[in-house]
Amino acid sequence: MNFYSLNKQAPKVSFKEAVIKGIAPDRGLYFPEKITPLGTHFFENIESLSKFDIAFTAIRQFVTEDIDDEKLKEIIAEVLDFDFPIVPIQKNISTLELFHGPTLAFKDVGARFMARCLGHFSFEKTEEITVLVATSGDTGGAVANGFLGVEGVKVVILYPSGKVSDIQEKQLTTLGKNITALEVDGTFDDCQTMVKTAFLDEEITKNKQLTSANSINVARWLPQLFYFLFAYKATKSEGKDIVFSIPSGNFGNICAGMIAQQLGMPVKHFIASTNVNDVVPRFMQTDFYDPKPSIATISNAMDVGDPSNFIRIRHMYNNDIKELAQNLSSYSFTDEETKEAMLELYNDYNYVADPHGAVGYLGLKKYQEQNPDTYGIFLETAHPVKFLDTVEDTIKENIDIPEKILKQMNKKKKSIKISTYDEMKAFLLA
Ligand SMILES: *Cc1c(COP(=O)(O)O)cnc(C)c1O
Repeated sequence: MNFYSLNKQAPKVSFKEAVIKGIAPDRGLYFPEKITPLGTHFFENIESLSKFDIAFTAIRQFVTEDIDDEKLKEIIAEVLDFDFPIVPIQKNISTLELFHGPTLAFKDVGARFMARCLGHFSFEKTEEITVLVATSGDTGGAVANGFLGVEGVKVVILYPSGKVSDIQEKQLTTLGKNITALEVDGTFDDCQTMVKTAFLDEEITKNKQLTSANSINVARWLPQLFYFLFAYKATKSEGKDIVFSIPSGNFGNICAGMIAQQLGMPVKHFIASTNVNDVVPRFMQTDFYDPKPSIATISNAMDVGDPSNFIRIRHMYNNDIKELAQNLSSYSFTDEETKEAMLELYNDYNYVADPHGAVGYLGLKKYQEQNPDTYGIFLETAHPVKFLDTVEDTIKENIDIPEKILKQMNKKKKSIKISTYDEMKAFLLA
């Protein structure tokens, strides 16, 4: 399978090249040249398939020239070694919990898949690959954990000093081995700017094979389509039209869901639920794409002013907003509304949601007001413990901290403090 750049000014590349490059030389995102539906037989019999079979069959066409079947099965077995439960909430609503991975964030699957692909590719090369990533919190932990111990790959994570939660910081800074945390005296935007500058800095790119590990990378983005297939398998017997509500920031997850739909999965509609960073809900109203600087909210993994993957979604609909609107609705919610939803989920349904999942719940409820005869699934993208203060303040209860988090909290933080681009550059080139 070849991948082309959405900017159309760069050559087509293999899966392997797309993963190693991350972004095309013309700064476009890569997109698969062809999406071949899996066939009705697959969906009719999905109940009899394991999550490993489902994932293997679904992703094989995208990677097969670069990863043989045996290796792909091995990668999938490692990546998916935890559960993806569907939890019923009320009539016609359930949640798909994506937070049972090692760092309790849904990004674990994409990060682990990408890490294993890169590990496989670097095996054939003599040159070491450096993954450079800026994080505002969740991405860094998932990437650090996913890449830990992968040979031939070095990971450098930039995070803003004092601006990530304690749990998140420990997840970034206690692993060691091939993972280094650079603690930046600045904001997330400063970290992001340093990373972007490094990718354009020839002195660095001549000497180091750099790649990114955010959802623009096809190896992090595509495996997220597994979730939707797992949810379909679990809820198909409800016999209703299925709709998904996805708490969205960079729109990678929801875009992967749309790929699952193009693979033939029956789904009636997608709902992109956002916090007040509402560039997509506004776009769906006005047909005018108007990015803004991000606003801080309690669902901070979705504080994105210019979502990087939305361009892939527009491309899938040939930039035809009318057609897109047939399949996608998008709503935004304030922190106040989000807290009320968390409280409602807890008081009425005995369910502790994190702020991101709660935004997903709100979007689903709003859609179902007009479309009651649907079966709705909202994605719960983080464990509530990752947003401990907000959750406990809102539901006025203490929540249990999982064992794996407690263990990590006792480990010693190791980071390298930097404040300028040149310091980062010196570190990379050393
Ligand atoms: C990253 C993240 C999101 C947003 O996912 P996108 O693919 O960027 O839209 C939502 N919730 C949590 C907890 C996240 O970490």
